[in-house]
Amino acid sequence: SKMVYYFGKTKTEGRGKAKSLLGGKGLNLAEMTAIGLPVPPGFTITTEVCDSYYKNGKKLPAGLIEEVNKAVAIMEKELKKKFGDDANPLLVSVRSGAAVSMPGMMNTILNLGLNDAATEGLAKQTNNARFAYDAYRRLINMFGDVVMGMDHHTFEAAFDKIKKKYKVSDDTDVPAEGLKELCEAYKTVFEKHAGTPFPQDPIEQLSLAVEAVFGSWNTARAVSYRQIENIRGLLGTAVNVQSMVYGNMGDDSGTGVAFTRNPNTGENKFFGEFLINAQGEDVVAGIRTPQPVAEMPKWNKAVHKQLLEIKDTLETHYKEMQDIEFTIEKGTLFMLQTRTGKRTGVAAVKIACDMVKENLIDKKEAVLRVPANDLTQLLLPSFKTTARNAADVLARGLPASPGAAVGTLSFDAQDAKARAAEGEKVILVRKETSPEDVDGMHAATGILTSTGGMTSHAAVVARGWGKCCVAGAGDVQIDEKAKKITVSGRTFKEKDVLSLDGTTGEVMAGEVETQEPTLSGDFSKLMGWADEFRTLKVRTNADSPADSKRARDFGAEGIGLCRTEHMFFEGDRITHMRSMILADNEKDRRAALKKLLPFQRKDFEGIFKAMNGCPVTIRLLDPPLHEFLPHEDKAQKEMAAELGVKPADVRRRTESLHESNPMLGHRGCRLSVTYPEILEMQVRAIVEAAIKCAGKNIDAQPEIMIPLIGTAAELRVLRERVEATIEEVTTQKKFEGDLKILIGTMIEIPRAALTADEVAEYADFFSFGTNDLTQMTFGYSRDDVNTFLPDYLANDLLPCDPFQSIDVAGVGQLVEIGVTKGRSVKKKLKIGICGEHGGEPASIDFCNRVGLDYVSCSPFRVPIARLAAAQAAL
Ligand code: ADP
Ligand code: MG
Ligand code: MG
Repeated sequence: SKMVYYFGKTKTEGRGKAKSLLGGKGLNLAEMTAIGLPVPPGFTITTEVCDSYYKNGKKLPAGLIEEVNKAVAIMEKELKKKFGDDANPLLVSVRSGAAVSMPGMMNTILNLGLNDAATEGLAKQTNNARFAYDAYRRLINMFGDVVMGMDHHTFEAAFDKIKKKYKVSDDTDVPAEGLKELCEAYKTVFEKHAGTPFPQDPIEQLSLAVEAVFGSWNTARAVSYRQIENIRGLLGTAVNVQSMVYGNMGDDSGTGVAFTRNPNTGENKFFGEFLINAQGEDVVAGIRTPQPVAEMPKWNKAVHKQLLEIKDTLETHYKEMQDIEFTIEKGTLFMLQTRTGKRTGVAAVKIACDMVKENLIDKKEAVLRVPANDLTQLLLPSFKTTARNAADVLARGLPASPGAAVGTLSFDAQDAKARAAEGEKVILVRKETSPEDVDGMHAATGILTSTGGMTSHAAVVARGWGKCCVAGAGDVQIDEKAKKITVSGRTFKEKDVLSLDGTTGEVMAGEVETQEPTLSGDFSKLMGWADEFRTLKVRTNADSPADSKRARDFGAEGIGLCRTEHMFFEGDRITHMRSMILADNEKDRRAALKKLLPFQRKDFEGIFKAMNGCPVTIRLLDPPLHEFLPHEDKAQKEMAAELGVKPADVRRRTESLHESNPMLGHRGCRLSVTYPEILEMQVRAIVEAAIKCAGKNIDAQPEIMIPLIGTAAELRVLRERVEATIEEVTTQKKFEGDLKILIGTMIEIPRAALTADEVAEYADFFSFGTNDLTQMTFGYSRDDVNTFLPDYLANDLLPCDPFQSIDVAGVGQLVEIGVTKGRSVKKKLKIGICGEHGGEPASIDFCNRVGLDYVSCSPFRVPIARLAAAQAAL
């Protein structure tokens, strides 16, 4: 099949083709060409070729070179230059570009086609030797870097020597002779490290470069990025070969990167940077500090105006915020790239809302535009104003990615990764980051760099993740070797704490207190639209009035899981709980439970009040009893003293409760079978609280949930007990009304899912406890899974952590069986989910598909679930 797609005046073959075939860059180059924007002509080699390159044992497929030569011939004709010509050489860039943008993950080679003779020819032809040798030295450097895998720093020493010799500090101040010497020095360095001389044959350069781009698809950093971003199922990268335009031809030339809107705040204002007399990566690499595009009119008014027009054209065309790359050659503007711009969560929400206002998109599209998980960033903490005002500000860098980060300092990515894995909050401190650092950047709580602009590697990557980043803090002197920084005359080492404000760019000494965020009007607008489209209800997992209230403020429509065990730990309660556990007869147990009753009743009352008019699913006691007892000698002695028993009694009871597999042991409904009085106390507390609420005109809607049912018989017996207790309490309290308490169960044991039709006979509702269901379906202990899960993920034995995102094929099948069988008996059976999965977008999509009534998640994730539920419905 066709391997090469041309774009240029002659034809744009790639227009409308699949992104998976041409990659994002190639497809958009074709599209921009087709809509009449100034794009240097070129061609795209498909991702299928990359795939067959690997399948071929890393050999370029037969026929490729012929197709490439044909495309080159068209370029030559259009541009009236010749590839490999000494007098009038056609130079090209060789650029990678997969279907999913992977910023900075793969390298680009510029000025390919130059050799000793052509450089001389180019110098003569352009009458600009400085430019020609600048282009050549860049080619040798990039070719060494990308094709030969030479260390990026290999060439640096040679450059420094030349700069010293000519007594200049900026690259651009090195004169033509200097650059000519530099090219000679570079060729020597190249030959020394590569073992072969720099190839003088342009055709050879091109095919090596194409192979190198294919090779870069599987470098450790590219693989790592795809893993972190969960990018799967791609054939490989495409290769774009494009005729060069030159931003390094002098002070009337330059290069830049920009966003059509502000990617941090979402403000509808052109945002970007450019560098005069520079080429390619100079802006992103942070070698020189670029100027904001707002300054461009002072330099070239016409180009600035044209750029703003192109910005509007692109936004109207793509109806999306774009991230563009451009170059100006002697006052003429060329577009080199456009793609959907990465943005912060805050910006995503604002842009979506603004674009609806501007009639670019409709509400539905707006809801689909914001990645649900990115809402986390709007819910992120920031620094407290008072603490901020009092903070010891050391320096100010660029506000590259918003948020607040407090942590100790780490000076290399591997160290940051290791320390973060130990639970330490670290700030990764680098002069500039490079793609090799992505692991450490991801693990760090914040990132600080001393060079580079708003579009530097660190800034772009951090924003994509919503990670706090301060970039280009030039006053911070970083000594990566000695692991210390010096700033305003003070020194900070690894164990010292800094605070970073990614919204202002400030770097502060010590820990500055953080606070919860406040939400914008756009946020509520978007959430309102989401609510219009979604059919799944969203509840929360909460077990205190404060959490319930917060969740309600976030839009929770009830509680899907109120765990009662946490209620037994506070203050005196744990003492009563322990004396209940120590009791060796029912009478003493009941006496201890009686003391717990008022606490429970009060808790429930508070929650019912906070959730007035919304359902509250209360799970009866679930964990094994030994979890409430101390296991250390000293603590056991203290407990004995407090309860007035012998330490030996405590030890004996703890030992007798010991289990080999506690998660498969005496817990959940099994506790209620053995100790029905616990169930009775809890149900009594619920009913009494509900009656009290009724008296105060509070609409309490309790749903009593019996955990860990495996057979219908368990539920039958326990349901009878719950009903009997409700009856007893209402009679005692002479309550006349109808409390409408529902009694249901958690489906978290595979057997319960498989026999859901039998179980449903005794259930008013089901709630899938997918944490336990995943544990039992896979047979992976939730508490021990981290000993092997990383290996499973690294070896692609699992697509993702099944405790985070539901395993649709296995666990999901059990859920589906449970739903189908349950509703075969009770058509309208209310069904929800209350595991961690209830707040995870992919799992929510699954829940929507199998017809659940609601998902339940932590308060913080409620907005995410609302948006994900809407996206699932659309
Ligand atoms: P990345 O995916 O890392 O952004 P690109 O392929 O976009 O890599 O190349 C990086 C930079 O190289 C571009 O932003 C542009 O400045 C420069 N560049 C690429 N191709 C050309 C070209 N044909 N002419 C001039 N500059 C180019
Ligand atoms: Mg690059
Ligand atoms: Mg680019």
